Amino acid sequence: MAHNEAVDVVLVGAGIMSATLAVLLKELDPAIKLEVVELMDSGAAESSNPWNNAGTGHAGLCELNYTPQAADGAVDIKKAVHINTQFEVSKQFWSYLTKKGTFGSCKSFISPVPHLSFVQGDSGVSFLKERFKVLSKHHAFADMEYTEDKATMAEWMPLMMPGRDPGETLAATRVINGTDVNFGALTNQLLKHLTSAPDAQVKYCKRVTGLKRSNGGWTVSIKDVNSGNTREVDAKFVFLGAGGAALPLLQASGIEESKGFGGFPISGQWLRCDNPEVVKHHQAKVYSQAAVGSPPMSVPHLDTRVVDGKKSLLFGPYAGFTTKFLKHGSFMDLPLSVRAGNIGPMLAVAKNNMDLTKYLVSEVMQSMEQRLDSLRRFYPEAKAEDWRLEVAGQRVQIIKKDPKKGGILQFGTELVAAKDGSLAALLGASPGASVTVSIMLELIEKCFPSKAKGEWAGKLAEIFPAREKVLETDAALYRKINTQNNVALELVEASSETESYA
Ligand SMILES: Cc1cc2nc3c(=O)[nH]c(=O)nc-3n(C[C@H](O)[C@H](O)[C@H](O)COP(=O)(O)OP(=O)(O)OC[C@H]3O[C@@H](n4cnc5c(N)ncnc54)[C@H](O)[C@@H]3O)c2cc1C
Repeated sequence: MAHNEAVDVVLVGAGIMSATLAVLLKELDPAIKLEVVELMDSGAAESSNPWNNAGTGHAGLCELNYTPQAADGAVDIKKAVHINTQFEVSKQFWSYLTKKGTFGSCKSFISPVPHLSFVQGDSGVSFLKERFKVLSKHHAFADMEYTEDKATMAEWMPLMMPGRDPGETLAATRVINGTDVNFGALTNQLLKHLTSAPDAQVKYCKRVTGLKRSNGGWTVSIKDVNSGNTREVDAKFVFLGAGGAALPLLQASGIEESKGFGGFPISGQWLRCDNPEVVKHHQAKVYSQAAVGSPPMSVPHLDTRVVDGKKSLLFGPYAGFTTKFLKHGSFMDLPLSVRAGNIGPMLAVAKNNMDLTKYLVSEVMQSMEQRLDSLRRFYPEAKAEDWRLEVAGQRVQIIKKDPKKGGILQFGTELVAAKDGSLAALLGASPGASVTVSIMLELIEKCFPSKAKGEWAGKLAEIFPAREKVLETDAALYRKINTQNNVALELVEASSETESYA
Protein backbone atom coordinates (compact mmCIF):
# COMPACT_ATOMS: atom_id res chain seq x y z
CA MET A 1 0.00 0.00 0.00
CA ALA A 2 1.39 3.39 -1.02
CA HIS A 3 1.70 5.94 1.80
CA ASN A 4 1.04 8.94 2.31
CA GLU A 5 0.34 12.07 0.35
CA ALA A 6 -0.59 15.15 2.39
CA VAL A 7 -3.17 17.78 1.47
CA ASP A 8 -4.95 20.51 3.43
CA VAL A 9 -8.47 19.30 2.65
CA VAL A 10 -10.09 16.04 1.48
CA LEU A 11 -13.69 16.32 0.29
CA VAL A 12 -15.58 13.03 -0.02
CA GLY A 13 -18.04 12.98 -2.93
CA ALA A 14 -18.28 15.10 -6.08
CA GLY A 15 -21.83 16.39 -5.63
CA ILE A 16 -22.97 20.01 -5.38
CA MET A 17 -21.97 20.29 -1.69
CA SER A 18 -18.29 19.27 -2.05
CA ALA A 19 -17.93 21.13 -5.36
CA THR A 20 -19.25 24.34 -3.77
CA LEU A 21 -17.10 24.06 -0.66
CA ALA A 22 -13.97 23.25 -2.66
CA VAL A 23 -14.40 26.27 -4.96
CA LEU A 24 -15.22 28.55 -2.02
CA LEU A 25 -12.11 27.45 -0.09
CA LYS A 26 -9.93 27.96 -3.16
CA GLU A 27 -11.33 31.49 -3.59
CA LEU A 28 -10.59 32.27 0.05
CA ASP A 29 -7.12 30.72 0.01
CA PRO A 30 -5.66 30.17 -3.48
CA ALA A 31 -2.68 28.30 -1.95
CA ILE A 32 -4.85 25.65 -0.30
CA LYS A 33 -4.15 22.07 -1.45
CA LEU A 34 -7.25 19.94 -1.82
CA GLU A 35 -8.52 16.66 -3.22
CA VAL A 36 -12.09 15.64 -4.05
CA VAL A 37 -12.61 11.85 -3.95
CA GLU A 38 -15.59 10.40 -5.88
CA LEU A 39 -16.57 6.77 -6.20
CA MET A 40 -18.44 7.15 -9.50
CA ASP A 41 -16.77 8.00 -12.81
CA SER A 42 -18.16 11.55 -13.03
CA GLY A 43 -19.34 14.46 -10.90
CA ALA A 44 -23.01 14.83 -9.88
CA ALA A 45 -23.77 11.12 -10.35
CA GLU A 46 -26.13 10.86 -7.35
CA SER A 47 -28.67 13.37 -5.95
CA SER A 48 -27.08 16.34 -7.74
CA ASN A 49 -27.73 14.76 -11.15
CA PRO A 50 -30.45 16.81 -12.92
CA TRP A 51 -32.76 13.81 -13.35
CA ASN A 52 -32.39 12.76 -9.71
CA ASN A 53 -33.81 16.00 -8.28
CA ALA A 54 -36.50 18.47 -9.32
CA GLY A 55 -34.14 21.34 -10.04
CA THR A 56 -36.34 23.85 -8.26
CA GLY A 57 -34.38 26.88 -7.17
CA HIS A 58 -36.06 26.75 -3.76
CA ALA A 59 -36.82 30.33 -2.73
CA GLY A 60 -40.06 29.79 -0.82
CA LEU A 61 -42.08 31.20 -3.73
CA CYS A 62 -44.30 28.16 -4.31
CA GLU A 63 -43.61 25.43 -1.69
CA LEU A 64 -46.72 25.37 0.50
CA ASN A 65 -45.05 23.25 3.21
CA TYR A 66 -42.64 26.14 3.96
CA THR A 67 -45.59 28.20 5.28
CA PRO A 68 -47.43 26.04 7.83
CA GLN A 69 -50.87 27.08 9.03
CA ALA A 70 -51.73 26.98 12.74
CA ALA A 71 -55.09 25.75 14.05
CA ASP A 72 -56.28 29.39 14.35
CA GLY A 73 -55.58 29.91 10.62
CA ALA A 74 -52.42 32.01 11.06
CA VAL A 75 -49.75 31.32 8.43
CA ASP A 76 -46.11 31.31 9.57
CA ILE A 77 -43.80 32.65 6.84
CA LYS A 78 -40.45 32.50 8.72
CA LYS A 79 -39.14 29.42 6.90
CA ALA A 80 -40.13 30.72 3.44
CA VAL A 81 -38.39 34.07 4.13
CA HIS A 82 -35.25 32.32 5.39
CA ILE A 83 -34.99 29.95 2.42
CA ASN A 84 -35.61 32.85 0.04
CA THR A 85 -32.68 34.83 1.43
CA GLN A 86 -30.49 31.71 1.51
CA PHE A 87 -31.18 31.30 -2.20
CA GLU A 88 -30.13 34.92 -2.77
CA VAL A 89 -26.83 34.01 -1.05
CA SER A 90 -26.39 31.08 -3.48
CA LYS A 91 -27.14 33.46 -6.36
CA GLN A 92 -24.49 35.90 -5.09
CA PHE A 93 -21.84 33.15 -5.31
CA TRP A 94 -22.94 32.04 -8.78
CA SER A 95 -23.04 35.70 -9.93
CA TYR A 96 -19.55 36.30 -8.53
CA LEU A 97 -18.19 33.26 -10.40
CA THR A 98 -20.03 34.10 -13.63
CA LYS A 99 -18.61 37.65 -13.59
CA LYS A 100 -15.08 36.20 -13.38
CA GLY A 101 -15.39 35.17 -17.04
CA THR A 102 -13.37 31.95 -16.63
CA PHE A 103 -16.27 30.09 -14.98
CA GLY A 104 -18.39 29.64 -18.10
CA SER A 105 -21.94 30.60 -18.87
CA CYS A 106 -24.70 30.70 -16.25
CA LYS A 107 -27.24 29.74 -18.96
CA SER A 108 -26.06 26.12 -18.73
CA PHE A 109 -27.32 25.80 -15.14
CA ILE A 110 -29.99 28.40 -14.33
CA SER A 111 -33.14 29.32 -16.29
CA PRO A 112 -36.06 31.60 -15.48
CA VAL A 113 -39.21 29.52 -14.80
CA PRO A 114 -42.24 31.03 -12.96
CA HIS A 115 -43.10 29.43 -9.59
CA LEU A 116 -46.81 28.79 -8.91
CA SER A 117 -48.82 27.36 -6.04
CA PHE A 118 -52.09 25.67 -6.93
CA VAL A 119 -54.86 24.56 -4.55
CA GLN A 120 -58.23 22.84 -4.86
CA GLY A 121 -61.27 22.98 -2.56
CA ASP A 122 -62.48 25.53 0.00
CA SER A 123 -59.87 24.84 2.70
CA GLY A 124 -57.02 24.92 0.17
CA VAL A 125 -58.28 28.25 -1.19
CA SER A 126 -58.66 29.86 2.24
CA PHE A 127 -55.11 28.72 3.15
CA LEU A 128 -53.61 30.08 -0.08
CA LYS A 129 -55.46 33.40 0.31
CA GLU A 130 -54.16 33.86 3.87
CA ARG A 131 -50.65 32.77 2.81
CA PHE A 132 -50.70 35.32 -0.01
CA LYS A 133 -51.97 38.08 2.33
CA VAL A 134 -49.10 37.60 4.79
CA LEU A 135 -46.33 36.70 2.33
CA SER A 136 -46.93 39.50 -0.20
CA LYS A 137 -46.36 42.11 2.56
CA HIS A 138 -42.75 40.91 2.84
CA HIS A 139 -40.31 42.56 0.39
CA ALA A 140 -39.00 39.17 -0.84
CA PHE A 141 -42.51 38.23 -2.05
CA ALA A 142 -43.81 41.65 -3.10
CA ASP A 143 -44.20 40.50 -6.74
CA MET A 144 -46.46 37.56 -5.88
CA GLU A 145 -49.85 37.53 -7.70
CA TYR A 146 -53.01 35.75 -6.50
CA THR A 147 -56.04 34.60 -8.49
CA GLU A 148 -59.25 32.60 -8.21
CA ASP A 149 -60.14 33.53 -11.78
CA LYS A 150 -60.06 30.53 -14.11
CA ALA A 151 -59.27 32.58 -17.23
CA THR A 152 -56.18 33.97 -15.50
CA MET A 153 -55.21 30.45 -14.39
CA ALA A 154 -55.60 29.26 -17.99
CA GLU A 155 -53.09 31.93 -18.98
CA TRP A 156 -50.67 30.97 -16.19
CA MET A 157 -51.06 27.16 -16.54
CA PRO A 158 -52.55 26.42 -20.00
CA LEU A 159 -51.91 22.68 -19.71
CA MET A 160 -53.65 22.36 -16.38
CA MET A 161 -57.06 23.93 -16.99
CA PRO A 162 -58.79 22.06 -19.87
CA GLY A 163 -60.94 19.07 -18.88
CA ARG A 164 -61.84 20.35 -15.40
CA ASP A 165 -65.29 20.47 -13.81
CA PRO A 166 -66.33 24.14 -14.29
CA GLY A 167 -67.67 24.17 -10.71
CA GLU A 168 -64.31 23.21 -9.16
CA THR A 169 -63.02 25.65 -6.52
CA LEU A 170 -59.43 26.60 -7.36
CA ALA A 171 -56.85 29.27 -6.56
CA ALA A 172 -53.26 29.95 -7.55
CA THR A 173 -50.39 32.29 -6.86
CA ARG A 174 -47.58 33.13 -9.24
CA VAL A 175 -44.13 34.65 -8.97
CA ILE A 176 -42.62 35.26 -12.39
CA ASN A 177 -39.02 35.36 -11.14
CA GLY A 178 -38.65 31.70 -10.17
CA THR A 179 -35.89 29.46 -11.47
CA ASP A 180 -35.06 25.97 -12.65
CA VAL A 181 -31.50 24.97 -11.74
CA ASN A 182 -29.53 22.16 -13.36
CA PHE A 183 -27.51 21.27 -10.28
CA GLY A 184 -25.62 18.61 -12.25
CA ALA A 185 -24.36 21.12 -14.82
CA LEU A 186 -23.51 23.56 -12.03
CA THR A 187 -21.59 20.87 -10.10
CA ASN A 188 -19.56 19.89 -13.15
CA GLN A 189 -18.89 23.54 -14.00
CA LEU A 190 -17.66 24.11 -10.42
CA LEU A 191 -15.42 21.01 -10.60
CA LYS A 192 -13.95 22.09 -13.95
CA HIS A 193 -13.28 25.57 -12.57
CA LEU A 194 -11.70 24.03 -9.46
CA THR A 195 -9.27 21.81 -11.33
CA SER A 196 -8.12 24.70 -13.53
CA ALA A 197 -6.38 26.01 -10.38
CA PRO A 198 -3.12 24.53 -9.09
CA ASP A 199 -3.19 22.03 -6.19
CA ALA A 200 -6.83 21.06 -6.70
CA GLN A 201 -7.66 17.56 -7.92
CA VAL A 202 -10.80 15.49 -8.42
CA LYS A 203 -10.19 11.74 -8.33
CA TYR A 204 -12.94 9.57 -9.84
CA CYS A 205 -13.66 5.85 -9.32
CA LYS A 206 -12.17 6.07 -5.83
CA ARG A 207 -14.07 5.11 -2.69
CA VAL A 208 -13.25 6.50 0.74
CA THR A 209 -13.27 3.40 2.93
CA GLY A 210 -12.04 4.69 6.29
CA LEU A 211 -10.85 7.60 8.40
CA LYS A 212 -8.57 7.75 11.37
CA ARG A 213 -7.18 10.57 13.47
CA SER A 214 -3.56 11.54 12.89
CA ASN A 215 -1.47 14.56 13.97
CA GLY A 216 -4.48 16.78 14.69
CA GLY A 217 -5.99 15.91 11.30
CA TRP A 218 -7.09 12.72 9.54
CA THR A 219 -5.69 9.85 7.51
CA VAL A 220 -8.19 8.97 4.80
CA SER A 221 -8.14 5.47 3.25
CA ILE A 222 -9.09 5.43 -0.43
CA LYS A 223 -9.71 2.39 -2.63
CA ASP A 224 -9.63 2.38 -6.43
CA VAL A 225 -12.96 0.77 -7.40
CA ASN A 226 -11.50 -0.75 -10.58
CA SER A 227 -8.08 -2.05 -9.51
CA GLY A 228 -8.79 -2.53 -5.79
CA ASN A 229 -5.53 -0.68 -4.97
CA THR A 230 -5.59 1.40 -1.82
CA ARG A 231 -3.78 4.55 -0.75
CA GLU A 232 -3.84 6.85 2.24
CA VAL A 233 -3.98 10.63 2.26
CA ASP A 234 -3.32 12.85 5.28
CA ALA A 235 -5.56 15.90 5.55
CA LYS A 236 -5.90 18.71 8.07
CA PHE A 237 -9.64 18.94 7.32
CA VAL A 238 -12.13 16.41 5.91
CA PHE A 239 -15.60 17.17 4.52
CA LEU A 240 -18.00 14.25 4.22
CA GLY A 241 -20.10 15.45 1.28
CA ALA A 242 -21.10 11.90 0.40
CA GLY A 243 -24.86 12.63 0.23
CA GLY A 244 -26.85 9.70 1.61
CA ALA A 245 -23.59 7.87 2.38
CA ALA A 246 -22.29 10.62 4.68
CA LEU A 247 -23.79 8.89 7.74
CA PRO A 248 -21.69 5.67 7.65
CA LEU A 249 -18.54 7.72 7.03
CA LEU A 250 -19.42 10.01 9.94
CA GLN A 251 -19.87 6.90 12.09
CA ALA A 252 -16.50 5.58 10.87
CA SER A 253 -14.82 8.80 12.05
CA GLY A 254 -15.90 7.93 15.61
CA ILE A 255 -16.22 11.62 16.59
CA GLU A 256 -18.30 12.24 19.69
CA GLU A 257 -20.72 14.47 17.73
CA SER A 258 -21.67 11.52 15.45
CA LYS A 259 -23.24 9.52 18.26
CA GLY A 260 -26.98 8.95 18.17
CA PHE A 261 -27.56 9.83 14.51
CA GLY A 262 -29.34 7.35 12.25
CA GLY A 263 -30.70 7.51 8.72
CA PHE A 264 -34.16 6.90 7.24
CA PRO A 265 -33.80 6.44 3.47
CA ILE A 266 -36.65 7.48 1.18
CA SER A 267 -36.56 6.74 -2.52
CA GLY A 268 -38.35 8.65 -5.23
CA GLN A 269 -39.83 8.28 -8.69
CA TRP A 270 -41.08 10.78 -11.28
CA LEU A 271 -43.25 10.77 -14.33
CA ARG A 272 -41.34 12.42 -17.17
CA CYS A 273 -42.66 13.77 -20.47
CA ASP A 274 -40.45 14.82 -23.40
CA ASN A 275 -43.22 15.24 -26.00
CA PRO A 276 -42.64 18.79 -27.34
CA GLU A 277 -46.35 19.19 -28.15
CA VAL A 278 -47.18 18.79 -24.45
CA VAL A 279 -44.06 20.44 -23.02
CA LYS A 280 -44.61 23.70 -24.94
CA HIS A 281 -47.90 24.34 -23.07
CA HIS A 282 -46.35 24.39 -19.61
CA GLN A 283 -43.73 26.94 -18.56
CA ALA A 284 -43.85 26.82 -14.76
CA LYS A 285 -43.13 24.90 -11.59
CA VAL A 286 -46.54 24.33 -10.03
CA TYR A 287 -46.55 23.09 -6.43
CA SER A 288 -49.64 21.90 -4.56
CA GLN A 289 -50.43 20.42 -1.14
CA ALA A 290 -49.24 17.00 0.04
CA ALA A 291 -51.82 14.30 0.72
CA VAL A 292 -52.74 13.97 4.42
CA GLY A 293 -50.18 11.75 6.24
CA SER A 294 -47.51 12.02 3.57
CA PRO A 295 -44.02 13.37 4.31
CA PRO A 296 -43.08 16.91 3.21
CA MET A 297 -40.83 15.73 0.37
CA SER A 298 -43.80 14.14 -1.40
CA VAL A 299 -45.53 17.47 -2.09
CA PRO A 300 -46.66 16.98 -5.70
CA HIS A 301 -45.50 19.35 -8.40
CA LEU A 302 -45.59 19.63 -12.19
CA ASP A 303 -42.36 21.17 -13.38
CA THR A 304 -40.73 22.53 -16.45
CA ARG A 305 -37.16 21.15 -16.46
CA VAL A 306 -34.41 22.62 -18.57
CA VAL A 307 -31.56 20.15 -19.02
CA ASP A 308 -28.83 20.60 -21.66
CA GLY A 309 -30.92 23.27 -23.37
CA LYS A 310 -33.96 20.95 -23.79
CA LYS A 311 -37.28 21.31 -22.00
CA SER A 312 -39.16 18.40 -20.41
CA LEU A 313 -41.91 18.04 -17.82
CA LEU A 314 -41.51 16.21 -14.53
CA PHE A 315 -44.33 15.23 -12.21
CA GLY A 316 -44.02 13.76 -8.75
CA PRO A 317 -42.19 12.81 -6.70
CA TYR A 318 -43.73 9.49 -5.69
CA ALA A 319 -41.89 8.59 -2.49
CA GLY A 320 -40.95 5.01 -1.62
CA PHE A 321 -39.30 2.84 1.00
CA THR A 322 -35.82 1.44 0.50
CA THR A 323 -32.82 0.46 2.62
CA LYS A 324 -30.23 1.99 0.23
CA PHE A 325 -28.45 5.24 1.17
CA LEU A 326 -27.46 6.02 -2.44
CA LYS A 327 -29.25 5.31 -5.72
CA HIS A 328 -26.20 3.20 -6.64
CA GLY A 329 -25.87 1.95 -3.05
CA SER A 330 -26.47 -1.39 -1.33
CA PHE A 331 -29.58 -2.80 0.37
CA MET A 332 -27.28 -3.43 3.38
CA ASP A 333 -26.70 0.33 3.88
CA LEU A 334 -29.48 0.74 6.46
CA PRO A 335 -28.86 -2.44 8.50
CA LEU A 336 -25.09 -1.77 8.55
CA SER A 337 -25.67 1.73 9.95
CA VAL A 338 -27.24 0.41 13.16
CA ARG A 339 -24.99 1.05 16.20
CA ALA A 340 -25.40 0.75 19.96
CA GLY A 341 -25.62 4.58 20.08
CA ASN A 342 -28.43 4.95 17.50
CA ILE A 343 -30.52 1.79 17.89
CA GLY A 344 -32.72 3.51 20.55
CA PRO A 345 -33.58 6.55 18.39
CA MET A 346 -34.02 4.32 15.30
CA LEU A 347 -36.46 1.98 17.07
CA ALA A 348 -38.37 4.94 18.53
CA VAL A 349 -38.72 6.46 15.05
CA ALA A 350 -39.81 3.10 13.59
CA LYS A 351 -42.49 2.74 16.32
CA ASN A 352 -43.74 6.35 16.12
CA ASN A 353 -43.78 6.58 12.32
CA MET A 354 -45.68 3.46 11.28
CA ASP A 355 -48.09 5.63 9.26
CA LEU A 356 -45.20 7.07 7.27
CA THR A 357 -43.74 3.60 6.58
CA LYS A 358 -47.18 2.36 5.48
CA TYR A 359 -47.56 5.43 3.26
CA LEU A 360 -44.15 4.84 1.63
CA VAL A 361 -44.86 1.16 1.03
CA SER A 362 -48.26 2.03 -0.50
CA GLU A 363 -46.54 4.58 -2.78
CA VAL A 364 -44.12 1.88 -4.02
CA MET A 365 -47.03 -0.49 -4.73
CA GLN A 366 -48.93 2.02 -6.92
CA SER A 367 -49.77 1.00 -10.48
CA MET A 368 -49.00 3.29 -13.44
CA GLU A 369 -52.75 4.03 -13.67
CA GLN A 370 -52.80 5.20 -10.03
CA ARG A 371 -49.77 7.40 -10.66
CA LEU A 372 -51.49 8.90 -13.71
CA ASP A 373 -54.56 9.60 -11.55
CA SER A 374 -52.37 11.78 -9.30
CA LEU A 375 -50.98 13.54 -12.38
CA ARG A 376 -54.53 14.15 -13.66
CA ARG A 377 -55.30 16.20 -10.53
CA PHE A 378 -52.86 18.66 -12.14
CA TYR A 379 -53.27 17.88 -15.82
CA PRO A 380 -56.70 16.31 -16.39
CA GLU A 381 -56.09 15.48 -20.04
CA ALA A 382 -52.73 13.70 -19.49
CA LYS A 383 -52.26 10.74 -21.83
CA ALA A 384 -50.40 7.64 -20.58
CA GLU A 385 -48.29 7.36 -23.75
CA ASP A 386 -46.65 10.77 -23.13
CA TRP A 387 -45.25 9.82 -19.72
CA ARG A 388 -42.65 7.38 -18.46
CA LEU A 389 -41.60 6.45 -14.95
CA GLU A 390 -38.05 7.29 -13.86
CA VAL A 391 -36.17 6.67 -10.63
CA ALA A 392 -35.18 9.82 -8.72
CA GLY A 393 -32.36 10.24 -6.20
CA GLN A 394 -32.26 8.92 -2.66
CA ARG A 395 -32.88 11.08 0.39
CA VAL A 396 -31.62 9.91 3.74
CA GLN A 397 -33.62 11.73 6.41
CA ILE A 398 -31.98 12.29 9.77
CA ILE A 399 -32.90 10.28 12.86
CA LYS A 400 -31.81 12.01 16.07
CA LYS A 401 -31.95 11.37 19.79
CA ASP A 402 -34.84 13.12 21.53
CA PRO A 403 -35.14 13.37 25.32
CA LYS A 404 -38.94 12.94 25.28
CA LYS A 405 -39.65 10.58 22.37
CA GLY A 406 -36.36 8.63 22.35
CA GLY A 407 -35.80 9.48 18.70
CA ILE A 408 -37.20 11.85 16.07
CA LEU A 409 -37.23 12.00 12.29
CA GLN A 410 -36.01 15.31 10.88
CA PHE A 411 -36.72 16.47 7.35
CA GLY A 412 -34.11 19.27 7.10
CA THR A 413 -30.34 19.21 6.81
CA GLU A 414 -27.83 19.16 9.64
CA LEU A 415 -24.18 20.07 9.60
CA VAL A 416 -22.33 17.87 12.09
CA ALA A 417 -18.80 19.04 12.94
CA ALA A 418 -16.03 17.75 15.19
CA LYS A 419 -15.36 20.02 18.18
CA ASP A 420 -11.83 20.80 16.93
CA GLY A 421 -13.18 21.77 13.49
CA SER A 422 -11.12 19.10 11.68
CA LEU A 423 -14.09 17.24 10.14
CA ALA A 424 -17.65 18.05 9.09
CA ALA A 425 -20.47 16.05 7.52
CA LEU A 426 -23.72 17.08 5.93
CA LEU A 427 -26.73 14.94 6.80
CA GLY A 428 -30.27 15.19 5.40
CA ALA A 429 -31.56 16.47 2.09
CA SER A 430 -33.92 19.40 2.33
CA PRO A 431 -34.22 22.16 1.11
CA GLY A 432 -31.12 20.84 -0.50
CA ALA A 433 -28.96 22.02 -3.31
CA SER A 434 -30.55 25.49 -3.53
CA VAL A 435 -29.13 26.49 -0.15
CA THR A 436 -25.73 24.79 -0.54
CA VAL A 437 -23.82 28.07 -0.35
CA SER A 438 -25.38 29.13 2.98
CA ILE A 439 -24.67 25.68 4.42
CA MET A 440 -21.04 25.81 3.29
CA LEU A 441 -20.65 29.33 4.74
CA GLU A 442 -21.98 27.96 8.04
CA LEU A 443 -19.38 25.17 7.79
CA ILE A 444 -16.58 27.68 7.20
CA GLU A 445 -17.67 29.75 10.21
CA LYS A 446 -17.87 26.61 12.38
CA CYS A 447 -14.68 24.84 11.29
CA PHE A 448 -12.43 27.80 10.36
CA PRO A 449 -13.69 30.47 12.80
CA SER A 450 -10.53 32.54 13.17
CA LYS A 451 -9.81 32.59 9.41
CA ALA A 452 -13.46 33.47 8.65
CA LYS A 453 -13.21 36.48 10.98
CA GLY A 454 -9.61 37.28 10.07
CA GLU A 455 -7.72 36.72 6.82
CA TRP A 456 -10.76 35.50 4.83
CA ALA A 457 -13.20 38.21 6.02
CA GLY A 458 -12.43 40.69 3.22
CA LYS A 459 -12.89 38.14 0.43
CA LEU A 460 -16.09 36.83 2.05
CA ALA A 461 -17.50 40.38 2.15
CA GLU A 462 -16.51 40.88 -1.51
CA ILE A 463 -18.25 37.67 -2.67
CA PHE A 464 -21.25 38.08 -0.34
CA PRO A 465 -22.14 41.76 0.01
CA ALA A 466 -25.36 40.82 1.88
CA ARG A 467 -26.02 37.70 3.96
CA GLU A 468 -29.35 36.09 4.93
CA LYS A 469 -30.18 38.06 8.12
CA VAL A 470 -29.82 41.53 6.62
CA LEU A 471 -31.67 40.47 3.45
CA GLU A 472 -34.59 39.35 5.60
CA THR A 473 -35.06 42.82 7.11
CA ASP A 474 -33.59 45.43 4.71
CA ALA A 475 -36.04 45.81 1.81
CA ALA A 476 -33.95 48.29 -0.23
CA LEU A 477 -30.80 46.18 0.06
CA TYR A 478 -32.78 43.02 -0.84
CA ARG A 479 -34.09 44.67 -4.02
CA LYS A 480 -30.60 45.85 -4.98
CA ILE A 481 -28.94 42.44 -4.44
CA ASN A 482 -31.82 40.52 -6.04
CA THR A 483 -31.67 42.74 -9.14
CA GLN A 484 -27.87 42.49 -9.37
CA ASN A 485 -28.06 38.69 -9.11
CA ASN A 486 -30.85 38.41 -11.67
CA VAL A 487 -28.97 40.57 -14.17
CA ALA A 488 -25.63 38.76 -13.62
CA LEU A 489 -27.33 35.36 -14.00
CA GLU A 490 -29.23 36.55 -17.11
CA LEU A 491 -32.59 35.83 -15.48
CA VAL A 492 -33.83 39.30 -16.44
CA GLU A 493 -32.68 41.65 -19.11
CA ALA A 494 -30.75 44.67 -17.86
CA SER A 495 -32.94 47.79 -18.20
CA SER A 496 -31.90 51.35 -17.34
CA GLU A 497 -33.55 50.78 -13.93
CA THR A 498 -31.73 47.49 -13.26
CA GLU A 499 -28.46 48.91 -14.65
CA SER A 500 -28.41 51.51 -11.89
CA TYR A 501 -28.26 48.56 -9.45
CA ALA A 502 -25.97 46.26 -11.40
C1 LIG B 1 -36.10 13.36 -5.38
C2 LIG B 1 -35.29 14.56 -5.01
C3 LIG B 1 -35.71 15.84 -5.39
C4 LIG B 1 -34.96 16.95 -5.03
N1 LIG B 1 -35.35 18.18 -5.48
C5 LIG B 1 -34.59 19.27 -5.19
C6 LIG B 1 -34.94 20.53 -5.71
O1 LIG B 1 -35.91 20.66 -6.46
N2 LIG B 1 -34.18 21.59 -5.38
C7 LIG B 1 -33.09 21.48 -4.55
O2 LIG B 1 -32.47 22.49 -4.28
N3 LIG B 1 -32.73 20.28 -4.05
C8 LIG B 1 -33.44 19.18 -4.36
N4 LIG B 1 -33.09 17.95 -3.88
C9 LIG B 1 -31.95 17.85 -2.95
C10 LIG B 1 -30.61 17.88 -3.67
O3 LIG B 1 -30.63 17.04 -4.80
C11 LIG B 1 -29.53 17.43 -2.69
O4 LIG B 1 -29.62 18.19 -1.49
C12 LIG B 1 -28.13 17.65 -3.23
O5 LIG B 1 -28.00 17.17 -4.56
C13 LIG B 1 -27.15 16.92 -2.32
O6 LIG B 1 -25.86 17.11 -2.81
P1 LIG B 1 -24.64 16.34 -2.17
O7 LIG B 1 -23.44 16.88 -2.81
O8 LIG B 1 -24.74 16.42 -0.68
O9 LIG B 1 -24.91 14.80 -2.50
P2 LIG B 1 -24.81 13.97 -3.86
O10 LIG B 1 -25.10 14.77 -5.06
O11 LIG B 1 -25.60 12.74 -3.63
O12 LIG B 1 -23.27 13.62 -3.94
C14 LIG B 1 -22.65 12.73 -3.05
C15 LIG B 1 -21.52 12.06 -3.80
O13 LIG B 1 -20.73 11.30 -2.88
C16 LIG B 1 -20.30 10.12 -3.54
N5 LIG B 1 -19.90 9.16 -2.51
C17 LIG B 1 -20.71 8.54 -1.61
N6 LIG B 1 -19.98 7.73 -0.80
C18 LIG B 1 -18.68 7.89 -1.19
C19 LIG B 1 -17.45 7.31 -0.73
N7 LIG B 1 -17.41 6.47 0.30
N8 LIG B 1 -16.30 7.66 -1.37
C20 LIG B 1 -16.30 8.53 -2.42
N9 LIG B 1 -17.46 9.10 -2.88
C21 LIG B 1 -18.63 8.79 -2.27
C22 LIG B 1 -21.51 9.71 -4.35
O14 LIG B 1 -21.17 8.83 -5.41
C23 LIG B 1 -22.02 11.07 -4.85
O15 LIG B 1 -21.49 11.42 -6.11
C24 LIG B 1 -33.79 16.81 -4.24
C25 LIG B 1 -33.36 15.52 -3.87
C26 LIG B 1 -34.08 14.40 -4.27
C27 LIG B 1 -33.57 13.05 -3.92
